[in-house]
Amino acid sequence: MRVEMLPSSIPASGTQFLVSFLINDTIAIDAGAIGFLADLGRQNRIKHVFVTHEHLDHIASLPIFLENVYQPGPDCVELLAARDVLDFLHDDIFNGRVWPDFIRLSHPEDSFVQTTPLEILQPLHRDGLTITPVSVSHGVDTLGLVVEDGISAVAFPSDTGPTEAIWQYLSTVQNLKAVFLEASFPASQAGLATLTGHLSTATFAAEVKKLSSQVRWIIVHRKARFAAEIAREIDAMQIPNVEFVCPGTVYEL
Ligand SMILES: [Zn+2]
Ligand SMILES: [Zn+2]
Repeated sequence: MRVEMLPSSIPASGTQFLVSFLINDTIAIDAGAIGFLADLGRQNRIKHVFVTHEHLDHIASLPIFLENVYQPGPDCVELLAARDVLDFLHDDIFNGRVWPDFIRLSHPEDSFVQTTPLEILQPLHRDGLTITPVSVSHGVDTLGLVVEDGISAVAFPSDTGPTEAIWQYLSTVQNLKAVFLEASFPASQAGLATLTGHLSTATFAAEVKKLSSQVRWIIVHRKARFAAEIAREIDAMQIPNVEFVCPGTVYEL
């Protein structure tokens, strides 16, 4: 499968301010940046948007995206998230004040968006992929996603601090090729990482040890201010198969 983390900073910096992964062009994991893609054709190809949790870096461009891709008629984007996240988006974003109520305005014959609730460990099948939500540990309820295409599997734990369930689940997944795991903070900010439900470089290294399979560990979600410090610390640890994500690069996995 083809996976790209969309850029929302200078790509060469290896950091991004907003979170969106595109899979095979038609599926997005998180909506931080999809609506800010300058190429509207690429926005129009996205048909299913999974939202892992409601933090702003994961939903920032969703209102713009839904407006950009709307076309009169029954075909519309599918928005998939946990029930409470869908309720939050309706109550606090698409509420007719912050942004039009695209959910109420949608009818079978003319739709902006169709919502589908996600349930933990209930896989869905979309565009030839099987996508399984797994809980992670982030302060607000957050779903990691495991994506399989019959040949390979890729894990997107989203934002998380030290966690367990997703590693247990991944130990049962065949052909796991890569994990896009966050390392938000350097060791000097370990306390802040704990308070905010993120990984520091030290807890990142401990999470990697929880999975016995040999996979590519692709680091995402470095806080921009600490990106260089995180990179130095990770490099010094010499953990096998670890790399930093290159936003805008397509990974063939
Ligand atoms: Zn978050
Ligand atoms: Zn985030």
